[in-house]
Amino acid sequence: MDKTVTLRVYRRDPDLDPAPKYQNYQIELTPGLTVLMALYHVLENVDKTLSFRASCRSAVCGSCGMHINGKNRLACETQLSTLGNEVLIEPLPHLPVLKDLVVDMTTFWEKYERVRPYLITMKQDPAKERLQSPADRKKIDEYIDCILCACCHSSCSLDWWDKEYLGPAALGKMYRFIADSRDEGELERLRLVASEEGVFRCHTLFNCTEECPKKISPTFAIQEMKKRVFFKKLTGKL
Ligand code: SF4
Repeated sequence: MDKTVTLRVYRRDPDLDPAPKYQNYQIELTPGLTVLMALYHVLENVDKTLSFRASCRSAVCGSCGMHINGKNRLACETQLSTLGNEVLIEPLPHLPVLKDLVVDMTTFWEKYERVRPYLITMKQDPAKERLQSPADRKKIDEYIDCILCACCHSSCSLDWWDKEYLGPAALGKMYRFIADSRDEGELERLRLVASEEGVFRCHTLFNCTEECPKKISPTFAIQEMKKRVFFKKLTGKL
């Protein structure tokens, strides 16, 4: 493989630069080179001022979500060889830029916290553990895989436009607990998602589902919760 790729990288320090600029870096393409490895190469050998977030390098921690060639992706699992001769690398769209590719995730985490992302239980704690059958575990498999990368959050126009709307990531997490056989907080959770900032704000555009690097469908979770809200309302339980 003897080829050079140009990384065209978004650069901005909001304290110093009124507008962003794009900087080009030439990278020699080697087998298996990911976008993240290429960014590390730039940082370590070419430009120590480049800022980006990363941690596990294994598509598990969710830190390296970026907008790469017009799509939200994880830099650590994106092969450079699949992206053409010029690769545009930008921060996740619609989130405030702290520096270069690093965005401010405050709103994302605030929304996440509002859905109480842990088991709500009323019964007395069991002596050992709360058991779950393999069949029940399977029902939440997809949503447990969420790595909180914010790729869906940044792709949803309603999410970044409406600060109150919980958005696809938080709602997907909410569904993960509603569908969990061990959780006892369904009514309380449905009351929150039945509100103005909940599931009915979703316009079913599927942007979140399309952009999720873990192939999770927050749209499906939102539709399921809409059904549950309707059913509870019809039966007078909500
Ligand atoms: Fe990322 Fe997908 Fe989770 Fe959204 S649902 S935060 S895109 S892993």
